[in-house]
Amino acid sequence: MPAQHILLWAILLGAALGLGCGWLLGPDMVGVAWLGTLFLNALKMIIAPLVAVAVINGILGLGSERLGRTLGVAVGYYAATTGIAVLTGLVLVNLIEPGAGVPLPTVTPTAPQPQGGVVGIFLQLVSPPALVEALAGNRLLPVILFSLLLGCAMLGVQGDARKTLEDLFAGLNAALMRLVGWIMYLAPVGIFALIAARFGEAGGKAGILAELEAIGLYTGTVLIGLAVHFAVLTALLYVLAGRGPGYILGMGRALITAFGTASSSATLPFTLSCAVEAGVDRRAARFVLPLGATMNMDGTALYEAIAAVFIAQAYGIELGIVAQVIIFITATLAAIGAAGVPQAGLVTMLIVLESVGLPIEGIALLLSVDWLLDRFRTTVNVWGDSVGAAVVDRHTSAEPS
Ligand code: ASP
Repeated sequence: MPAQHILLWAILLGAALGLGCGWLLGPDMVGVAWLGTLFLNALKMIIAPLVAVAVINGILGLGSERLGRTLGVAVGYYAATTGIAVLTGLVLVNLIEPGAGVPLPTVTPTAPQPQGGVVGIFLQLVSPPALVEALAGNRLLPVILFSLLLGCAMLGVQGDARKTLEDLFAGLNAALMRLVGWIMYLAPVGIFALIAARFGEAGGKAGILAELEAIGLYTGTVLIGLAVHFAVLTALLYVLAGRGPGYILGMGRALITAFGTASSSATLPFTLSCAVEAGVDRRAARFVLPLGATMNMDGTALYEAIAAVFIAQAYGIELGIVAQVIIFITATLAAIGAAGVPQAGLVTMLIVLESVGLPIEGIALLLSVDWLLDRFRTTVNVWGDSVGAAVVDRHTSAEPS
């Protein structure tokens, strides 16, 4: 059996054991949290340099002509699939009406602070302005923007210097990917610990069931929506990229890691590694996946739409078609603006609520189960990025990488 398959089964086993132990042993499992932190920190350590090197390397490999086409297909795919996700969420939440009759929160939560609305999303592209600060804080959008510009500038360098740059970044990328391979061996234990500790912290079986009881229908609506969108993406994978479900297995290590870490950014090193192993053109993958991990979040978009309408239903606020169209647009933008870190969607959801004048206190209704839903939506986010890389590859690849 190839090493990747053994690792996939080991990671699956780790996740299953983590679920079982967290569920059955509850708070006793919090003691293993440090093992998860160790694994997560190893991943976080490598993200910023990997993203910078991968994007530059991808651009140098693509060249200016293919770069434009790749960017065009990627953005088209992101916009279309995020739109489909929000629409799925809106249809489901209007049909199921999970918010009807839900008791309103009695305490005002310490709600996350608004981040400057829609304008704030654009400002994030260059914030913080100092690249070193962005690298240090794992703020990927400015890192990607800078690497994109630097990569484009390098395309203008001619002769020997250009060859040196290409070799340098190809070599650096290969070395960083080896490091990713080493970190992957930590994944079975790391993911076990992350899941067991978090499920334990939530109080195990009794605690989680109590959390779900109050807003079970909301949780169910989000999970159905995410499952539908996962299936839609899989169908798109077949239609647009000519790939079958084997690709899910190929991306399995990244998908389980997404569930374990609740972070698309932390998962990115594995997403990159799995996609290339699954035969996605290295140049497209290196360029498209970092972009997707920060900007393309279908699961988050779907959840934001459902959550906003759910809050309106709980407060008995009627949302007309115009309000729902505004939610469609702002949920899409809020998902683009959300960083690929745990529960970032909860913060950018303020933009959606404010855009249609819904009470921000409503967020209190969602807080208790958000850590759990976050894991499912992050998995869908990473699946969306993985399918995107395959689609872009299929539609831009002309020669072997
Ligand atoms: N945790 C999600 C991610 O990293 C973002 C979110 O929806 O909160 O993709």
